[in-house]
Amino acid sequence: MKIVVLIKQVPATDKVKMDEETGTMIRDGIESEVNPLDLYAIEEAVRIKERMGNGVEISVISMGPKKAEEAIRSAIALGCDKGYLLTDRKFAGSDTWVTAYTLALAIKKIIGVFDIILCGERATDGETGQVGPEVGAYLDLPVLTYVSKIEKIGDDQIVTHRAVEGGHEVLEAPLPVLMTVVKEINTPRMPNFSGKMKAKKAEILLLTADDLGADEERLGLKGSPTRVVKIFRPQVARKGKIVSATTDPESAVDGLVDFLAGKAII
Ligand SMILES: Cc1cc2nc3c(=O)[nH]c(=O)nc-3n(C[C@H](O)[C@H](O)[C@H](O)COP(=O)(O)OP(=O)(O)OC[C@H]3O[C@@H](n4cnc5c(N)ncnc54)[C@H](O)[C@@H]3O)c2cc1C
Repeated sequence: MKIVVLIKQVPATDKVKMDEETGTMIRDGIESEVNPLDLYAIEEAVRIKERMGNGVEISVISMGPKKAEEAIRSAIALGCDKGYLLTDRKFAGSDTWVTAYTLALAIKKIIGVFDIILCGERATDGETGQVGPEVGAYLDLPVLTYVSKIEKIGDDQIVTHRAVEGGHEVLEAPLPVLMTVVKEINTPRMPNFSGKMKAKKAEILLLTADDLGADEERLGLKGSPTRVVKIFRPQVARKGKIVSATTDPESAVDGLVDFLAGKAII
């Protein structure tokens, strides 16, 4: 069985700044890490391998700058087998649709025949949650989103739970399949010493646009149909009311009740 895990390297901070001129993220000088939500996809792939044995091969693919090699090594330290980084200036400025095109092309080219593609629910920087399903669309695969449990993997079909408000749906799909997973699916492990050693020695294959045989018109900013028209900080329109309970809690409670009643909230 062949499993592909798609991971993104993201800034290790929730204070991402945007370049208001270009509409892109400012990544210089910011520490990076594996997208935290991709750790659940990595963990699930490793668990499948542990359950099904050594016939399972896990490949990790990321598109990003050379630095994203660190993220791929982290995934190998956690139990993945092979790592591929798609890196080329021609990929710069890609929107989600072009990111998905490039990733799908790489999967076809490098992996060929596969059974499962695992993605995180969303990236903590871009936060669109679009790339996984878009890769599925490019590869014409059934897409299972918000997967919270894999119940069974058969020879040619998979049964999963999909998290929905207040419960879950049971979904069945033929293989090959693309899944995006949510936090509830597992608890990611920490890397052990032998994993770290394996990651250090692993050869990460770097692939350019030429290696993928990509249509240059469909790459990077040029190929991206999305345009960031304007970036701004939203103004908080409502003014809050501060009620201090330090000196006179009773009148503070009365004040709060009056305020909420005045807004018809209670
Ligand atoms: C017009 C425009 C210009 C942009 N320019 C730039 C730019 O110059 N530089 C820049 O860094 N970003 C740029 N972006 C942001 C870029 O589109 C997103 O970072 C990228 O497409 C992923 O989208 P996301 O972060 O919303 O991921 P999501 O869709 O939220 O990610 C979901 C899952 O998809 C997988 N995934 C996502 N991205 C990757 C990846 N790169 N490799 C492997 N797996 C992945 C992961 O499993 C992840 O959990 C631009 C966006 C737009 C709209």
